[in-house]
Amino acid sequence: MARSKGDTPIRKQYLEIKSQYPDTILFFRLGDFYETFDEDAETTSRELDIVLTSRNVAKGNRVPMAGIPYHAVENYLARLIDKGYHVAICEQVGDQPINGLVPRKVTRVVTPGTIVEPGLLPGDANNYLACIVWQDKRAGVAYVDITTGEFSATEITAPEIEPAVRAEMMRLNPAEILYADEASLENELPGYLTPWPAWRFESARCQQILLDHFETASLDGFGLRGMPFAISAAGGLLQYLEETRPSATKLLTGLATYKLTEFMNLDAATRRNLELTETIRDGGKTGALLGVLEHTITPMGNRLIYQWLSKPLLDLDLIRKRQDGVEYFVNHGLVRAELREKFKPLADLERLTQRIVGGSGQPRDLVAMRSTLQQLPGIKELLPDDESTLKEVSKDLHLCSQELGLIESALEDDPPATLKNIGVIRNGYSAELDGVIESSRHARDWIANLESVERDRTGIKTLKVGYNKVFGYYLEVTKSNVDLVPENYIRKQTLVNAERYITPELKEYETLVLNAEERIHEIEARLFKELCERLAGSVEKLLSTARMIARLDVLASLAEAAALNGYVKPEVVGEDMLDIHEGRHPVVEQLLISERFVPNDAVFDAEERIRIITGPNMSGKSTFLRQVALIVLMAQIGSYVPADAARIGLVDRIFTRIGAQDEIYAGQSTFMVEMVEMANILHHATNRSLLILDEIGRGTSTYDGVSIAWAVVEYIHNHPGLRAKTLFATHYHELTQLADLLPGVRNYNVAVSEADNKVVFLHTIVPGGADQSYGIHVGQLAGLPGPVVQRASEILQQLEESSGKAVRIDPQAPQQLAFFPETNPLLADLDQLDMNTLSPIEALNKLFEWKRKYLQDGDE
Ligand code: ADP
Ligand code: MG
Repeated sequence: MARSKGDTPIRKQYLEIKSQYPDTILFFRLGDFYETFDEDAETTSRELDIVLTSRNVAKGNRVPMAGIPYHAVENYLARLIDKGYHVAICEQVGDQPINGLVPRKVTRVVTPGTIVEPGLLPGDANNYLACIVWQDKRAGVAYVDITTGEFSATEITAPEIEPAVRAEMMRLNPAEILYADEASLENELPGYLTPWPAWRFESARCQQILLDHFETASLDGFGLRGMPFAISAAGGLLQYLEETRPSATKLLTGLATYKLTEFMNLDAATRRNLELTETIRDGGKTGALLGVLEHTITPMGNRLIYQWLSKPLLDLDLIRKRQDGVEYFVNHGLVRAELREKFKPLADLERLTQRIVGGSGQPRDLVAMRSTLQQLPGIKELLPDDESTLKEVSKDLHLCSQELGLIESALEDDPPATLKNIGVIRNGYSAELDGVIESSRHARDWIANLESVERDRTGIKTLKVGYNKVFGYYLEVTKSNVDLVPENYIRKQTLVNAERYITPELKEYETLVLNAEERIHEIEARLFKELCERLAGSVEKLLSTARMIARLDVLASLAEAAALNGYVKPEVVGEDMLDIHEGRHPVVEQLLISERFVPNDAVFDAEERIRIITGPNMSGKSTFLRQVALIVLMAQIGSYVPADAARIGLVDRIFTRIGAQDEIYAGQSTFMVEMVEMANILHHATNRSLLILDEIGRGTSTYDGVSIAWAVVEYIHNHPGLRAKTLFATHYHELTQLADLLPGVRNYNVAVSEADNKVVFLHTIVPGGADQSYGIHVGQLAGLPGPVVQRASEILQQLEESSGKAVRIDPQAPQQLAFFPETNPLLADLDQLDMNTLSPIEALNKLFEWKRKYLQDGDE
């Protein structure tokens, strides 16, 4: 892409622009195409599978070129953005060439976090652009959704800043993360990483940029006092937007600061394990908590319920406020139904506002806004005055009647979808436009009548009015009649038998007719733009209304879920307690078809810290653990809960360590992952946390497993800073002895009925430790061959008899090959191992692999 002497002017223009966007693919508008050149062309052609051609840019210098038609740009953009590229769109500005060259300018840079095209955006989810600035133990995080105007920032302090920042990123799940290029960011973050020069984040600079943007003298009003990192992050984002999509900044009318301590902290593993917004199995909503609670109707409601689920609250007042709103809609089913009916025709008011304010609005967007605003009075009417939460919502839900009036007066009832066609603006809105339309109609009529008028005036019976491309409209008179032609006729063309004339008047009307369409187009485009600009003055009002609708939608949705599924309003309290009566798992109860879901209590007595739950496989231990966590979480988002009654003391964090299956990744063994997660829990849990520990120690040998599990329980119980409420499911019966040793430990087990040598799981959790393992019965239920079940019972008996002594299995059956050393393939494998080159991790992995291979890793 080097310059060469004989470069054409357009090549020079290209190189000049390209030099400002080195790391970005430049889409260079040439007529109906966006062309890419040089390396960009190679990338584009490879990634988009389009033809790579070449173009002469100087004598003897051809460079690679690849182009896409401008009307299909969205689709191609989507694919490049998806692959993490940034694309600068360079348009032709103005039609008049200057020195033979059309001026061109980059109008926006499209990056994953700055897209607004409806076709590229996820409909139900926010598309966040986030920014991280950090140093030592302190970090600033800001994020923005330019399609909805949400703009927030926070400052985090933590002894280990990276995990804290990462957890926040997992919660936000941004499409793109901006950060200072001198920082080293770990790759374990969601979204695409965009490094940017460090000076951009310099705090004084960022402060000034925010002040200028918000036109204020101080940032204190935004809650940014003493938060230099948050200011840097927010200011960095603003600068980035100004360079990538300047129009987007208009939508950012405010900045909300928040604290991580306002929300329940959920680490990524817990989010996943509890299947809050998506299932582990297929990443879908169905089967996740979101799938049960989401009865929202509007797009903004869909986004908000996702946010609520991701951010359970820690503030009693805020929780109760939401609960009151939900309660109102639970108790007023009719209002709820009517309201939800009214939501159905609503368009995505947040994103519509963004498009209209941001300058990319089209007539169809105003049509959608008009029909949405028309519904507002009907919605507001339904809201009660006597319920304080809803009254508050109602206060910020503006009727926007002025804005509606403006659109109604300006916009045709059924205008074309885009500005490409005319007929957008209503008759009576603009005298100028009406004048042009009127005079064009008048001119048409005048020309249509001209023939008969002139025949009468001149007495030439054969006079004709005609039209051709070269001369436009003309009057044609046969040669025999030329002496009757009046003076004002100007001769234009001579034919064999006739002469053609024009008159200045005819030309005037002709111009009116021919130019009318173009002028109407121009005027309509201008009026439309003005209309959008006037609406932009109401951006705060429109967005606030959109957000209130989202809020109502979510409250009604939670009420709908509560009513459909028989939930109750939990009492959320400040004290340290957990009191759930007849609780149910919100998702599993819906999946059971023939069976009834068996409810269970989770009532912790005053002393109780750790509840150990034993019981056979498939009896319902894991379900119970998750159900308790989900009920607490639902309560803290303001929802009703699946129980008969519940009193829940605020929980600061929920931690989960669940199951050891399918979790081998990044070269770590299951056991390693398990221990890393366990360590994280023990370091961060407090006495107000809720710990869900399911089968800890499963990934290792029995003795190791029991020992670790035992030590973990002791630690949680005895560590003064910990003592978190813990639900511990295990198949290690040994652990039930802990209840005799530690005062805060209680044993529970899942009741089983045994009749005629058949086991039935009752799914009821009852006090006391389980005294028998039913694994073999489960094997039988699952259809293991009779002899296997038989033999297993014998071995079990031997094991039980020898308990306490070194275990020796009588190698009675010939198929017990593994117990004969001379034929044991494990020994052969051991022999192969080179102890001198083996790292501890590799050793651990080897052990793990062998266990799998030789013991078929019965995951017990
Ligand atoms: P465990 O962890 O003890 O192996 P799970 O919790 O995985 O058992 O439960 C196994 C299955 O039992 C679940 O998939 C569900 O179908 C059923 N189940 C669990 N709890 C209940 C319950 N309370 N009522 C009815 N069925 C249940
Ligand atoms: Mg389980």
